[in-house]
Amino acid sequence: MAEVLFIEGGRVIDPASGTDGVRTVILRDGKVAEVAERVEKPRDARAIDARGKWVTPGFIDLHVHLREPGQEYKETVATGARAAVAGGFTAVCAMPNTKPVNDNASVTELVLARAAAAGFARVHPVGAISKGSNGEELAEYGELLAAGCVALSDDGRPVLSSALMRRALEYSKAFGLTLTVHEEDLQLVGKGVMHEGAAATRLGLKGIPGAAEDVMVLRDLALLELTGGRLHVAHVSSRGSVRAIREAKARGLAVTAEVTPHHLALTDEDVAASGYSTDFKMNPPLRSASDVQACREGLADGTLDAIATDHAPHSAVEKDVEFDAAANGITGLETAFPVCLALVRAGALTERRLVEALTIGPARAFGLAGGTLAAGAAADVAVLDPKAEWILDPARMYSKSRNTPWKGKRLAGRCVMTIVGGRIVHEEGRTER
Ligand SMILES: [Zn+2]
Repeated sequence: MAEVLFIEGGRVIDPASGTDGVRTVILRDGKVAEVAERVEKPRDARAIDARGKWVTPGFIDLHVHLREPGQEYKETVATGARAAVAGGFTAVCAMPNTKPVNDNASVTELVLARAAAAGFARVHPVGAISKGSNGEELAEYGELLAAGCVALSDDGRPVLSSALMRRALEYSKAFGLTLTVHEEDLQLVGKGVMHEGAAATRLGLKGIPGAAEDVMVLRDLALLELTGGRLHVAHVSSRGSVRAIREAKARGLAVTAEVTPHHLALTDEDVAASGYSTDFKMNPPLRSASDVQACREGLADGTLDAIATDHAPHSAVEKDVEFDAAANGITGLETAFPVCLALVRAGALTERRLVEALTIGPARAFGLAGGTLAAGAAADVAVLDPKAEWILDPARMYSKSRNTPWKGKRLAGRCVMTIVGGRIVHEEGRTER
C-alpha cells in the first residue's frame, strides 16, 4: 500500500473543480482524500513541500506512439511511460500503428501487460478503426473494448473511404467509443513534405496545403451529423479545421479536438531557419503563422479541447537522412509543459486553460477517469515548477529517441514530481539516471 502523501504549500490548479489557490492535498489509498486550505498533517503522512510550485491533476495525453510491439528500437511501452511521467503525464493513449497493428485483443493485452509491468504512467490502448488500419474492413470494436481499448483510430493514415468512415461512426457509437481521426486527403498531399507556402517555395520542397486537412475534417463532420457517435480530430493544424470544428460545436455536434505543442509553437518558417532539420518534419506539417494563430485562438476559446503531444519517437536511421526521405514526427512527452507554458507567458493562453487542456479536457474527450483532484479521484498528480530553467540535454531524456526540435534549447517550466495512484513515480533530480 502506498504511503499517505501530504503535499503542502503549492498552488493547486484544478479546473475541473474550479480550484486555483494555495491548498494542501492529501493522497491516501491511491485516491485524493482531501484538498483544503488548512488541514493537519496526518501522523503517518510523508510531507512534500510544494511551495512555489503548481500542483495539478496528472496530465493526460490522448496521442502517443509507444512503438511496441514491433519497433522497440525506437521506444517501448516502458520507456515511453517513463518519459511520460518525466513530463507530468500520468496517463497516455497509445496509438495502434504498431507492428502488428492493434486491431485485436492480443495486441491490446500485450500493451496493457507491458504498461502494468513498467509501473509508470497509465497506458490506455487505442484500437484500430479498420483491420490492419488498411481502410478496407472494420476491426472488431466489441473485442477491442472488452480488451481495454478506450478509443479507435487508424492514426498515421486517414480513413479514405467515406462509406467505411460512415460505418465506423455507426458501429463505434454502439460501443460508446470515440473515433479519433488523422485527417489528410492523400491526393492533395501528393509528394508534399512540408506546409505549402512561401517557405516551401524558397526551400525547394514540395508543399502540403492546409486544405488537405480541411476537406477531410469537413467530410467527417458531415458524416457525424448523419450518424451521431463521437468524433475526435487528432492533431489539428490548419485554420480551416479550427473554423469547421468551431461551427460544428456551435451546431451541437459531438466533436472534440486536440492540438500539439509544436503546432502551437512553431511555423513553417522554423523549418527554413533550422536548415532542413528533420526534427522539424512531422505530419501534419508545421504550418503558417496564421494557422498557428488560429490554433492558439481555438485552444483559448475551447474549440480545441486538449493538448496532445503526438509523441512519435524515431531513431537516427529514420531521421539522419535528407528532408524528403525522413520519417514524420517528433517526441513530445518531456517538452510539452515548458513549450506550452511559453504560450502563457506570451499572453496566448491563461494558466487555467493550459492546465484544463492537459487534464480534464482530454479526459472528457475519450470519457476517461481522472483529470481532476476532486476527493475520491485517483491520486494522479503533477507537481510543476513554472520557473525552473533548464536546457534539454538529449543524453538525459527518458525516451529512447532524440528527435525533438528543442534539443539543446533553454526551456522554462518543469515537472518536478509525478504521482500515479498515490505512488511517486518521478522525482526530478532524484532518479535512476
Ligand atoms: Zn496522425
